[in-house]
Amino acid sequence: QLTDPLAKEGPSSPSYDWFQTDALVTIVIYTKQKDINLDSVIADHRDDSFRAETVIKDYSYLIHIALSHEIQEDFSVRVVENVGKIEIVLKKKENTSWKCLGHPLENHNSLIPKKDTGLYYRKCQLISKEDVTHDTKLFCLMLPPSTHLQVPTGLHVYFKLTITGTEIVKPYTPVSDSLFSEFKEPVLPNNKYIYFLIKIYPAGLFTPELDHLQIGDYVSVSNPEGNLKISQFQDLEDLFLLAAGTGFTPMVKVLSYALTHIRSLRKVKLMFFNKTEDDIIWRSQLEKLAFKDKRFDLEFVLSVPTSEWNGKRGYISPALLSEFLKRSLDTSKVLICICGPMPFTEQGMKLLHDLNFSKDEIHSFTA
Ligand code: FAD
Ligand code: NAD
Repeated sequence: QLTDPLAKEGPSSPSYDWFQTDALVTIVIYTKQKDINLDSVIADHRDDSFRAETVIKDYSYLIHIALSHEIQEDFSVRVVENVGKIEIVLKKKENTSWKCLGHPLENHNSLIPKKDTGLYYRKCQLISKEDVTHDTKLFCLMLPPSTHLQVPTGLHVYFKLTITGTEIVKPYTPVSDSLFSEFKEPVLPNNKYIYFLIKIYPAGLFTPELDHLQIGDYVSVSNPEGNLKISQFQDLEDLFLLAAGTGFTPMVKVLSYALTHIRSLRKVKLMFFNKTEDDIIWRSQLEKLAFKDKRFDLEFVLSVPTSEWNGKRGYISPALLSEFLKRSLDTSKVLICICGPMPFTEQGMKLLHDLNFSKDEIHSFTA
């Protein structure tokens, strides 16, 4: 039975249908929403079951079916944005006519609060691993052909590994290449590769295991999670990014999205806090970008600098922030994104409130 928690709030529940040709089976999801894109649907085909989760506001609409016939491993996903229609095209293994699509599995054809859907994982293969700093590496993972998944800007995924018999799960935030010329993604259709900047802590629980994976090994990766909404960028004029250490990772896609999609944008400023110069991730790429794009300004702040360091020093502070967070116009629409170690983020949030920025003007990245 289709539950309809959105009904009271206005928009009607999604529905689905299917049709076939000799070679293909197409599942059509009518989301009845306009802001749907290829990020909105996550689909996995495993054994004979097919699962597609469509994210609609804070809800997930699930298609979950034990298919009546075998299909080929890969499939394609298309979205007709203006009518909110999603088409998933499956390839039949044999050209026979299907009498039914299959049997419903758990939560099939239901709309459930996203927080209640649980994490769904698929195994991704480690394709490459490159040093970025002395302790941070760029990991490239490949999604299976039987998965459609794109991680939206500002969201993270969970990695799962079994470590000495126990399943351990930690969050990581994908990065993109588009603004950084030296990091070129190989051209592959359907966004099959996902990149992560990950710092290895020698005494950590998870990252040493991750670092020990060989090329070709697998790690389980979840559906995206997080609460940044792309609508927060609408009509934005000034974007301030406060990042500490690997808290830089969500800023990569945010920076790229803002510079390429937000026409109203006047200025993006990144204040990047690190212990030493050696810890700065993608320093030269950031400097090149600041040189190339006049809208982008960059400031490094070191908490454990050498005596030769001429730049800013210390932890996040009222003095650093009040100088840095200058609007380009008095009335500019601003967004401040903050991410880093917990004490950094907490201290930063407090300082931002003290500086009279409103809740809507601040986004902190957390799990
Ligand atoms: P842990 O075992 O958690 O240890 C980390 C460090 O703390 C080690 O040096 C350890 O010795 C020390 N430590 C552990 N426990 C204690 C203790 N009780 N007292 C003192 N010291 C202690 N990280 C990235 O590198 N890239 C990302 O893109 C990324 N994205 C994230 C997204 C989100 C939403 C969140 C919340 C975190 C993200 N992280 C990211 C951090 C990541 O999830 C892990 O926390 C990190 O990789 C450390 O994991 P670990 O198990 O190896 O280390
Ligand atoms: P780090 O230890 O190298 O520190 C980087 C900088 O953070 C320091 O130079 C300092 O300026 C600041 N800092 C550290 N401790 C501080 C404190 N007590 N008070 C004020 N400022 C402080 O950082 P790291 O090892 O790269 O850790 C990055 C952190 O970011 C991790 O805790 C990770 O979980 C978090 N992270 C969160 C997300 C997310 O929530 N989306 C994403 C990525 C990383």
